[in-house]
Amino acid sequence: MKRSSIALCLCLCIAAAAEKPAPIPANVQRALDDITPSDLRGDLSFLASDTLQGRYTPSPGLEVAAEFIASQFRAAGLQPAGDQDYFQMANMVDRRMLVMKSSMTLQQGSETTTVPAQFIAVLDSNGTAKIEHAPVIALKSKDPALLKELELKGKAVVVPGLVPGQRRDLNTYLQTRAFDEAVAQSGAAVEITLNQTRAPVQPAPRLIEAAEAQQHRTPSLTVVSDDLSKWVEHPGAASEPRTISVDIPAPEDKNVVVKNVIGVLPGSDPTLKDTYVMMTAHYDHIGTTETAGRSANNRKPAGNDHIFNGANDDGSGTVSVIEIARALASLQPRPKRSMVFMTFFGEERGLLGSRFYGHHPRFPIAQTVADLNLEQVGRTDSTEGPQINTASLTGYDYSDVTKYLEEAGRQLGVRVYMDKSASDPYFTRSDNASLAESGVPAHSITVAFDYPDYHGLGDEWQKVDYDNMARVDRMIALGMLDIANSATAPQWNAANPKTGPFREAQKKLLGSGRGQ
Ligand SMILES: [Zn+2]
Repeated sequence: MKRSSIALCLCLCIAAAAEKPAPIPANVQRALDDITPSDLRGDLSFLASDTLQGRYTPSPGLEVAAEFIASQFRAAGLQPAGDQDYFQMANMVDRRMLVMKSSMTLQQGSETTTVPAQFIAVLDSNGTAKIEHAPVIALKSKDPALLKELELKGKAVVVPGLVPGQRRDLNTYLQTRAFDEAVAQSGAAVEITLNQTRAPVQPAPRLIEAAEAQQHRTPSLTVVSDDLSKWVEHPGAASEPRTISVDIPAPEDKNVVVKNVIGVLPGSDPTLKDTYVMMTAHYDHIGTTETAGRSANNRKPAGNDHIFNGANDDGSGTVSVIEIARALASLQPRPKRSMVFMTFFGEERGLLGSRFYGHHPRFPIAQTVADLNLEQVGRTDSTEGPQINTASLTGYDYSDVTKYLEEAGRQLGVRVYMDKSASDPYFTRSDNASLAESGVPAHSITVAFDYPDYHGLGDEWQKVDYDNMARVDRMIALGMLDIANSATAPQWNAANPKTGPFREAQKKLLGSGRGQ
């Protein structure tokens, strides 16, 4: 095994190298060679087995997965870094919004219109709300700047959602989130998002932090109504005050506890050891045909199969974190910075585990220099064609984390490239986004962005290319090691305006020790 991988490295390096990559020290090469296709296959055939029932958040299968990952971190010699051994316990509420029971009343002067209950869906509400004659503020878009100098307390904020065909680019996404959050905290009576389709879609149940589920928040509805749309089209034309009355039912809540799994390899440098390089992946998936809901690509059971095994998404990333941790933990001397290995719950239900970590970090975010988030690194049969010895990063030109992986790729014969159609849109679609929004240069590393069994029943461990995954994982391990041993921390690319919100978030952290 060792001999053949060295031979492969040599021939690919000679072919690829215009400038000669730095040689890999013998002890590092030995550690990298410990990442083997058979270890990855062994781990993944368990994590993606039917026994774990598709690792839905929350579910007994997810619990078993967490125990397995913790046991592997223990075997690797990582130090536990949760609040209970390797587990970061998250108290959550599993919340289902109930359907509307009564209509909504719109009033202007003596004119009254009703919107029937079936054209209304509750998106967010922390309890029952009885709203009577709330004055209307109609806005043309979810631009947080429009909220400045508006008194929202007690008002009904009416605003269009995305219109069909409108692209949800990074800026729209961040603006919409900031807008909704600002209204939720404002003391407004209700936020009403106009829906363009015939009937609003009842939202899937959501997991919320238990503490948050008790706070006061402005309830949020989505509504289809031509009358309301007209109010938005002519926001200034009303001579008589316009009001909205509506009764919002309380949600159905269930308390659950779920876990992130966290281990750390302490750094060896007296100063740099207080800075952290993270490697992450989500260990949850979408469960079975009963739990998957709209996230399933195909909800019909195929023969006897009703389990979404999520081997590539993201069992592949999870077992890679395990095997890379094991390999790097064997290094003597240890890397200079501390390395944090973490697997998240609840990515499939909205990046929940990573958001939870962002709110409750176990290591100072200001001293966290990078996050390498692994997503779909196992399958090579991309819908774009075979992906052999290649890997891509989302937000490719957002930070110089990319440079470390490009160099590791040159050293090991893996082509690290920018996928122009995926780099921007996928940046916010995985857990790296939660870290990036906290200011940490964070990317997802992927082999195939799209593949035939994505969120399908056929995402099975037998279809993974383990030889390729081992080669890509060695490259990622080497890139992480180079970041951990570098005296300078990776930086956001200030020349790219798309990094603005992340640099802003990072600026808020400055002064608390970042930038080593
Ligand atoms: Zn995923």
